[in-house]
Amino acid sequence: MRATVSSDPAEVVVDRQERILLIAWKDGHRSVFSFDDLRRDCPCASCDDARSKRQTGGGLSVLTGPILKRGETQVADYHAVGWYALNFTWNDGHDTGIYTYESLRAKCPCEQCSKKGKAG
Ligand SMILES: [Zn+2]
Ligand SMILES: [Zn+2]
Repeated sequence: MRATVSSDPAEVVVDRQERILLIAWKDGHRSVFSFDDLRRDCPCASCDDARSKRQTGGGLSVLTGPILKRGETQVADYHAVGWYALNFTWNDGHDTGIYTYESLRAKCPCEQCSKKGKAG
């Protein structure tokens, strides 16, 4: 029997000490995301824009705020957005990223999920 992948969180833990976001899903799976990765993958429009500019390598990128090095990313504040997403305020003041549970589940970095992605 195939287990259905759930994007409903049973438990969400924001651990500022370890700098990780831990989500226990309703299907029993657990995902651990580092703040560094979450900040880097911020889904908001301006970060998306900055990332695609960086990829095409065209021109100089305009820096709009302090750049956090890996290991320095910290959550200043966070709250749930309805029942479907999380919003973080990072310690660089950035707070426009809405992280949906669906997208978080889809990019679960655990070994099991990354294997599944490759095998199809
Ligand atoms: Zn952003
Ligand atoms: Zn996983």
